[in-house]
Amino acid sequence: SIPLGYFGGIGLASRNGILFKGGNFLDVMTKVNAVVMDKTGTLTKGVFKVQQVVSKNIEEKELVKLTSALEQNSTHPIAKAVTEYAGDITNGVKAEGVEEISGHGLKGKIDGKQILAGNVKLLKKFNVPYPAEIESIVHTIVVVAINNQYAGYITIADEIKEDAAQTVKDMHSLNIKTVMLSGDKQSVVDEVAKKIGIDEAYGDLLPEGKVEKVQKLKDEGRHIAFVGDGVNDAPVVALADAGIAMGGLGSDATIETADVVIQNDQPHKIVSAIKIGKITRSIVW
Ligand code: ADP
Ligand code: MG
Repeated sequence: SIPLGYFGGIGLASRNGILFKGGNFLDVMTKVNAVVMDKTGTLTKGVFKVQQVVSKNIEEKELVKLTSALEQNSTHPIAKAVTEYAGDITNGVKAEGVEEISGHGLKGKIDGKQILAGNVKLLKKFNVPYPAEIESIVHTIVVVAINNQYAGYITIADEIKEDAAQTVKDMHSLNIKTVMLSGDKQSVVDEVAKKIGIDEAYGDLLPEGKVEKVQKLKDEGRHIAFVGDGVNDAPVVALADAGIAMGGLGSDATIETADVVIQNDQPHKIVSAIKIGKITRSIVW
């Protein structure tokens, strides 16, 4: 039988916008001693805005047009920024055979030309030479190649969520280790990590890289809560002791796999979820 206190705990959580998919996860939350968080959409708003367009051997407008025609086929927050910025200049331009390469970006054909739009890893994968200085840009960038020739990049910026730093601080006062994982560049990741005071931060990770990091923490005997929102986060959400999905931007797969769903986008709700677990436990026992 389920002790009465669990119902109280689940109810209290749901009134705070936190959905527990079973009373046992209230208990799991009390044992958590490492919280691993995705960057984009979890600690940052995941609402990107185009800042700058730098093109090579092509008009800037043309670069935006081609990139946007490709990005129209993606639901990634980066894709939304580019298509919004492009507006209707993409009208009538059709990309064919578009493939999303997880953790890298996109590949497709426009007017018989092969277009790549993604990160530096994507260009490396296709052996496209690029100027070394783009490696040191401290922003999220979409690098573009046309017929395997480097054609420039678009810089985009995201913002840190208002309650991210306080969330990390409160986790530390509960003796919880904090870790951030991201597919974004290490330089961007380091900057966000510094601003919010997180213990450890790893960038340039593919989805399987995120799984490895969480597995390693588990092997160290840590009790892990993983918090993510993205299309690629479902495997790590499943692996963690407590898999938490941020509901607002979350993908269906991640929400379905999650043990706990946070209905708004505030990371501080993770602290609330842990505290509600502890309160419930004190009533049940
Ligand atoms: P994260 O949520 O940590 O940013 P993702 O796996 O969603 O990780 O993405 C990893 C990286 O892959 C992004 O930071 C970006 O550089 C690149 N990327 C993924 N999808 C796209 C896309 N549609 N357009 C351009 N770049 C992309
Ligand atoms: Mg993500």
